This record gives sequence, structure tokens and C-alpha cells, in this order.
Amino acid sequence: MRRLAAGLAILGVVAAGCDSGSESPDSPPAPRVAGDAGDPGTTAYDAAISRPHEDSVYPDVGDPGVDALHYALELSWDPEHTRLTGTETVLLRATTTSDDLQLDLARQLVVGHVWLDGNAVPFEHESKDLVVSSPVRAGSRHVLQLTYAGVPEPVTAPTDRADFSTTGWTVARDGTVWTMQEPYGAYSWYAVNDQPSDKAFYDLTISAPKGQVGISNGELRTRRVVAGRTVTRWHLPEPAASYLITIAIGHYTETKDTGPHGLPITYWTPPGEATSLRRVRYAPKAVAYLEGMVGRYPFPTLGVLVVPGLSAMETQSTVTLGDNRYALSRDVVVHEIAHQWYGDTVTPDDWSDVWMNEGMATYLAEAGWASSHGPSGSPPRGLDAILHRWSRFAAGMRGRYGPPVHYHPGSFGEGDVYYIPALMWDTLRQRLGDGEFWSLARRWLTSHRFTSQNRTSLAAWWSRQSGQDLTPFFHAWLSGATEPTWRASGGV
Ligand SMILES: [Zn+2]
Repeated sequence: MRRLAAGLAILGVVAAGCDSGSESPDSPPAPRVAGDAGDPGTTAYDAAISRPHEDSVYPDVGDPGVDALHYALELSWDPEHTRLTGTETVLLRATTTSDDLQLDLARQLVVGHVWLDGNAVPFEHESKDLVVSSPVRAGSRHVLQLTYAGVPEPVTAPTDRADFSTTGWTVARDGTVWTMQEPYGAYSWYAVNDQPSDKAFYDLTISAPKGQVGISNGELRTRRVVAGRTVTRWHLPEPAASYLITIAIGHYTETKDTGPHGLPITYWTPPGEATSLRRVRYAPKAVAYLEGMVGRYPFPTLGVLVVPGLSAMETQSTVTLGDNRYALSRDVVVHEIAHQWYGDTVTPDDWSDVWMNEGMATYLAEAGWASSHGPSGSPPRGLDAILHRWSRFAAGMRGRYGPPVHYHPGSFGEGDVYYIPALMWDTLRQRLGDGEFWSLARRWLTSHRFTSQNRTSLAAWWSRQSGQDLTPFFHAWLSGATEPTWRASGGV
């Protein structure tokens, strides 16, 4: 994400007056699943095997007992009644021996039936916790299926930022839908292990009202009109954390473009609005600049989705940008695309390490790119001039919000996780020299592709590769009470 400048368990669905979630002779058979996503023995999604853990900042979201490998979602949106209907199939691995499995799912979505490996199973849906009662062994794989429906609501975001106060399923005045969901909020529209240590593959089928279209991450496999509705099928070919999933349903114009090496780029912009399309067409140049810094673009496609929000998100291989001058500015476009490397290819496994995303994206975009190209409409300023300005207010941010890895949980995404680690990376670049620094910045990605990491693994890896014990360096910048000194390099 780009920082803005400046109760009681409900067994089954008793509360909704419908059927019970316990095993019932009336339970319909489990939905059939196309392809291998319904086969618990498949190895097709082993690249999504993760080490889920309980988040240190937001421990109430996500569950380390589940390692989701693949989500198949079939969603239908009724804008007149703002009602979402979903059928979901989750291929998962139990990480511990337990009597149940738990996922996050907002209480507004009423669960109809749950099946595990084809058998109806009892469940409880208290608050946002969906608990499926079935004994599982550590390491065993299962196919969890459920049906649900309801009127989704956004989730309150743990931040005082001006550009967003809620996350997740958001309905615009005209009934169209968009999402941004960092650090959590995916659970406002599907059952999910909503914590970034658990990456998974995704296939979405979205049924949208006539004339509208459903958009998500990755590759658009098919787009058809079925019974007067637009049905799109999306496939995400690399595992992603839940906060990097996007969905939008509305009126969109699809425009094709080509990036470096023939990279297929698709812009999804509001129809009849030339300005937003013109602004986002900077994407190929942004990719070219970033490839020069941190290596080949990591995904087979790039999408740019413009939605009626204020903020911008680095959703995986399809960035989501608010339809306003700020979120569509060149430095924000570069920043969100930079996250495709730092944030999406390698993702923090805990929200205390969101600096891993924001520090390098800020360094690449608002410092490196801006110093060579200039922000939108402005001449370039030297790298030192940009960083010198940041260094003047960094200590204040450390004091106000805390060190980058110890921010107050209610201050998600404030300046401390952006500017302080950007200054840190520049200091490390000066220490190692440009050649070694950028070589390691690229190799960190290629040697940890599509995994979730943390400051401990990062400091150990950079120390090992550089032959220097950098742990005290990272610790001082990321955890220390006082601001380390940044010095101008006199170069660039
Ligand atoms: Zn960001």
C-alpha cells in the first residue's frame, strides 16, 4: 500500500432460522469441483505450502492450524439487494493434530452447509470465526467446502490514515464493488486464513449483473454471458497472501497494452473516462525502470484496476488504484508495481514486518525513481535531497508511532514503516556499495520466490551473503528507540 502523503457460538445457522450446520440427512451433496483442486492428494499446489503462524500484531485474525493451498470461489453479486452468494472450496493442510479447523469469515455471511472431504460436518460460526468440527492430523490434507450468502460489510481498519478507514468488501453508491484489504479484511467476502504467512493459489468465478464485469487477480481465463449475466473466470498462477487478493465488480473498459519482454498488461478503467486510462498507461515504463533495479518482473501478466477508492494497493499481479489524481500519480503507480517484487514475491509472514514491503517500495519509487524521473509534473530532485528531507522527520515518526517493527497496532501503515526503512536501505547501499547492494536486493527475491519471510530470516540472509554481521545494523534501524544517522552519499 502507498502511504498517503501527508458471542455465543452459532451452531450451523440457527440464528438465521435456517438449517443446522450439524450433519443432517437433508444436507445436499458437496459441490463438485472442476480439476484437481478437489483432490486432497494432489501435489499441484505444493508451491503454496506455508509455515502459518499467529500474527504478533493482529493475533485475532488468521489461524496457524490451517495451511490453505488453494481457494476456489464461485461468487454471485446482486447489487439491488447488495447480496453476495458464494460457494467455496479450500484445499488445505492441517498443521497440527486437532479436533477442528478454523477460518476467518465475517458474521454477515451466513453459512449454509460445510463439507470436509465430501462429508457434511458440524460447524460453529461465532463472530468472524468459522470453526469446523472434525478431527484432523498434523500434515493431513483436506478439501473443505462451504456455501454462504449475506450482505457483506467492510471491516474496520486498525489505522488513523486519511486514505482508508475500512478494508474488504466495499460497495459504491451505484452498487458496484471494490476491495482493498491490508492488513486484513478478505474475510469480509470469503472464508480465509487471513494472515500473510499463509499463501495459496486462487481460482475465482464471478457472476456479475448484465453489463458489468467481475475482475480479480491473475489471468482472465474466460468471459461469457450466461443467462444475461457476465461470468468471468480468473486464475492466479502463483501463491498469494490474502491481503494481496482483489475483486471488483462494476462497469469497466478493458484496454490491452504490452510491457517489457512482451508482458501482457490489461487496464480496467471506468468507461468513458480517458483521464484515468491516460494516467495508468505509465505502467510499461514503471516495469522497465523496476526491472533495471530489481530484476525481471516476477509474474506472467500485469493488470491495473482503477476503483472508486482513495488509496492504492499492490494486489498481486493486478494492482488496485483509487480513481483520483494522487493514487494515479506516477510515483504511486511505480510504488504499487514495485511491491510486485518487494511485498508480493517475498511477503512478510507477520504484520510487524510490513516495513519489508514499504521500505523498499518507497526507496525504489519515491526515492530512486523520483530522483531520476521526477514525481508527476515535477522535475527530478537528487536522491540525497529527497532522503535528507525524510531524515529530518524520521525521528519524529519513530517517536510518535514507534520503531518500524514495534508500531502501535492501531497505527497500521504510518510513516515509520515507509521512510525509516527506506533510509536504512540507502545506508546499507552506501555501506556495501551499489554493485553488491543491488545484486543482493535481486537475489533475496529469486532465492525466496513466493514465500513469506521476516526480519530474522532477512537479517541472517543478508549477513551470510555479504559476509558481514548485519544483525545489529537491522536491529538498530528497525527496533531501536533512537534514530540512527543517515548521511548523504554525495552521489546519484
Ligand atoms: Zn506500499
